[in-house]
Amino acid sequence: MAFVPAVLSFAVPASGLERLKKVSDRFYFFQGDFGNPNSGVIVTPGGLVVIDAQWSTAAAGDFLREIREVSDLPVRFLVYTHAHADHVSGAHVLAQGATVAASASTAREMEERGREMVDALKERIRNQADDLPLVLPALTFSGRTVIRIGGVDVVLIDVGRGHSWGDTAVFLPEEGILYAADLVATNRFPWIRESSIREWLAALARLSAETGGPVEKVFPGHGEPGGAAQIERTKRLLEALRREVGAAIEAGWSTFEAQRRIRLTEFSSLENYEFRLPPAVGRVYEEMEAEKEGIAPGHP
Ligand SMILES: [Zn+2]
Repeated sequence: MAFVPAVLSFAVPASGLERLKKVSDRFYFFQGDFGNPNSGVIVTPGGLVVIDAQWSTAAAGDFLREIREVSDLPVRFLVYTHAHADHVSGAHVLAQGATVAASASTAREMEERGREMVDALKERIRNQADDLPLVLPALTFSGRTVIRIGGVDVVLIDVGRGHSWGDTAVFLPEEGILYAADLVATNRFPWIRESSIREWLAALARLSAETGGPVEKVFPGHGEPGGAAQIERTKRLLEALRREVGAAIEAGWSTFEAQRRIRLTEFSSLENYEFRLPPAVGRVYEEMEAEKEGIAPGHP
């Protein structure tokens, strides 16, 4: 299957912006501007855990500079939430001396098509000069895994295939902070072009089951922070897509007709709704048609 770039638009970050925000004593959230990818930092006496590596050498450099304004402790772990290039491409800047950790399925996706995804990203941002070496994870895990560092439990929840071939959320149980990355949409319509919605819904159910504690704040991979309600809202969005597309197939509409006619009014105020809805409908149509044939299409 042809690779579709994970990110459709990039903007050059304005320098000098303070984008690293303190959420709690331990957690800082770095919000990419213009919907560019977010990251997180967990500060412990034993060193830092960085979540996601930004999308270019410059963006990772900006992020690291802001990290250095709040802590000079070494980055001990860099965790990838998933393999998409916009979340891993700045790892060479951030991972120096750190252990790079990811789920086994993310590691596999990176081995199989990581280079291809990074090259597509370079095409997209029109910066072939940015080297972006692929930094593969050195530590892989499956299921629910706890990293105990400086007396802090950092819970890694590998929920399996959802938005990508394998998605990981990072949970701080004591603070109820969940970095859910691209599994959860807050103010932006999610990117759905290769995912299986059925698997994504199962991944969200697993996520809710495996936090093992109340979720107070939710941080997406792109856009604004949210709360537990955004997990439920993302489920409703994905369910609505399946419901509407199911009805369209039932009514005999073509993919094109479904893409033109389906509206999800509850979600129409989300950023990118107009331009991401038609490809999402196309993808779900393809998935549901394949289900009728008894094929579970899922990911490539
Ligand atoms: Zn992604």
